[in-house]
Parts: sequence; structure tokens; C-alpha cells
Amino acid sequence: MKVAVFSAKPYDRQFLQAASSSNYHHELSFFEPRLNQDTAILAAGFSAVCAFVHDQGDAHTLQVLASCGVKLLALRCAGFNNIDLKTAAELGIKVVRVPAYSPYAVAEHTVGMILSLNRKIHRAYTRVREGNFSLDGLLGFDIHGRTVGIIGTGKIGQILGQIMNGFGCKILAYDVYRNPECEALGMKYVDLPELYANSDIISLHCPLSSETHHLINGEAIAQMKPGVMLINTSRGGLIDTKAVTKGLKSGTIRSLGIDVYEQESDLFFEDLSEEIIQDDIFQRLVTFPNVLITGHQAFFTEEALRNIAETTLSNITEIEEGKPCANEVSSTPQT
Ligand code: NAD
Repeated sequence: MKVAVFSAKPYDRQFLQAASSSNYHHELSFFEPRLNQDTAILAAGFSAVCAFVHDQGDAHTLQVLASCGVKLLALRCAGFNNIDLKTAAELGIKVVRVPAYSPYAVAEHTVGMILSLNRKIHRAYTRVREGNFSLDGLLGFDIHGRTVGIIGTGKIGQILGQIMNGFGCKILAYDVYRNPECEALGMKYVDLPELYANSDIISLHCPLSSETHHLINGEAIAQMKPGVMLINTSRGGLIDTKAVTKGLKSGTIRSLGIDVYEQESDLFFEDLSEEIIQDDIFQRLVTFPNVLITGHQAFFTEEALRNIAETTLSNITEIEEGKPCANEVSSTPQT
């Protein structure tokens, strides 16, 4: 199939081309711009478009794609909150995704953030380079014996639970569905107020939906144990950033680790080091010594990129051959 790959970075080319030439032989063309209503015209003459997390699949963009002859939108990510699935279905554009590529990558990055924030490794790194070997301000706590609250116990939440179990933590969990494997691990399902009140570390692993938008708001923070560490490697919109900034200023939130940010599409995946960043809310967060931000890199491992490329191309082949594709996303609402 002729596939227009949007938001293409050098690593996308590398892994998609390697997978295509060894197994699939699709005709891939790489476009650096993000997919949106202005750039969608680049897909003229292509049957499929391959898109990533910050590409836009709103109604207008989909209409342009449909007029270009596009029949398939192959997402090379798990989340599809950026796609208007109803309009896609109306226009006859099938949508496929990569539901799991390496839950270990995201869970391990989450643990990296917990360890860095607790022992201030991000601060120690710069101090030592400047010849400052003082320990003042670097005091952490034993993670062993602490309580970790995991919100969303799907693939990533479960692996995080396994890892933190290995640290000797007590694990509280909240999900709309219970995961028996998490229960077998000894994770205790509780309601959100109980999780908030008792967790030393809270980590978010549920999808962004209308129910979970700003799940962590002022009201939720008020219920949290003073001195909580909050981690979000899921989706930026789960957190009301202004409320979290207030929580950091009051000390209710002892530290914050985020790999995702609500307005990240204006920032992440680009080198903006020569520019003046206009987002004052983000810039305020950057000034806190107890905030660690990474630019949506939790997924970014060799294994994940190989799996993403392989599954994306296999999804495209299945649709091309008219076979049922297990990774097709239906237009029924996201849970
Ligand atoms: P998953 O589908 O396996 O698990 C998600 C879990 O969230 C499910 O158990 C589901 O029941 C639960 N859930 C749904 N609605 C909920 C609600 N209202 N409250 C509590 N729980 C709810 O997904 P996963 O593979 O574990 O991924 C989790 C999230 O991680 C994804 O939605 C995605 O946003 C994010 N993610 C981030 C990166 C990254 O690089 N930072 C990479 C991959 C995925």
C-alpha cells in the first residue's frame, strides 16, 4: 500500500523502513509536518496515512484525507483521543492502532522518575558537574515499605505494580475494572478517596477520556496525603496543571514527575532551545526543583519502536488484504 507517514522523525524512518523491507514491502513516503487540516493535502494519491500522538484527526482533516483518496488511518501509537472516530467511520476511513508495544518501556520510565525525584538524581547530576558535593536538599526516603497508588491497572499499571512490589511497597489500585493478575499480586483495589488519602506515591495509568479529564484537580489534591509524589506518564489531560502547581506551592505535593503535559503538542518532540517558550504554565513548572519533566519519551525504547513498526505495517497489510484486523478502532466511545 502507498502510505504517507506524517510527523516522521529519523527514528520513525529507520524502524519503519527496516520492518517494511524485511517483511511487508509497503511503499512508504515520509513527511516531517504534523497531520492537520493544512497538511492533509500531502496525502493526495496515498491510500493510507500513518500518524502519531500529536497528529490531528479532526473532522476537517479527515474530510481532506477522504477527498485525497485515503481509506486507512494507521496510528503508530496506542491512544486515539486525537481522532474523530465517528467522522472517520462516516467517511469510510478505517482506523487502526498499536494497542501495546512495550508496556515495560513506560512502566520502567515511571520507576525511573520515581527514583530520580525521590533521591534528587536530576539535581545531583548538575551539582557534581559544578563541583558541588553538598548533600543539603538531596534527602530522600526508603521506597521499601511505602504505599504506591496506581490509577489504571491495565498493561502498564500492572507492570508498575509488579516492579513496585519488588521494592517491597504496599500497592493500592483504582480502576473501573479489576485486573485479576493485579489482585493475585496482592494489589488492593480501593476507591479514589482511599487511594488519595493513603498513598505516598500516586501514578496515573488510565486513558484520557471525558471521565478522566482533569481527574487530578484541586478537589483530588485536597484529599491526598501531604507530601505525596505524583507521577503522570499517561496523558497530560489527566492533570489540571494549575491545580497541581498550587499543590506544589502549598507542599501537599512533595514532587511531580510528568512525561506528558496537557499542552504538549505545542512543545514536545521538537528542539525549541533557540525559542522563547510562550507557555507560562509550563515554564512555571520547570522552575520547581522538585518537578521532573521528560518530553513524552516513556515509550522510547528499541523494543517499542520495533514493535510499533511491525504492528503498524501488519495492520496495514491486514486491511489491504481485506482481513479482519484485531487492532481496528471502532467508533463506539472510548472507555
Ligand atoms: P490499558 O488499556 O492496558 O490500561 C488502561 C486501564 O485504565 C484499563 O485497565 C482501564 O480499565 C483503565 N481505566 C479506564 N478508564 C478509567 C477510569 N475512568 N479510571 C480508572 N481507570 C480507568 O492501557 P496501557 O497500555 O496500560 O496504557 C495506559 C495509558 O498509558 C494509555 O492510555 C496512554 O495514554 C499512556 N501511554 C503513554 C505512553 C508514553 O510514552 N508516555 C506510551 C504508551 C501509553
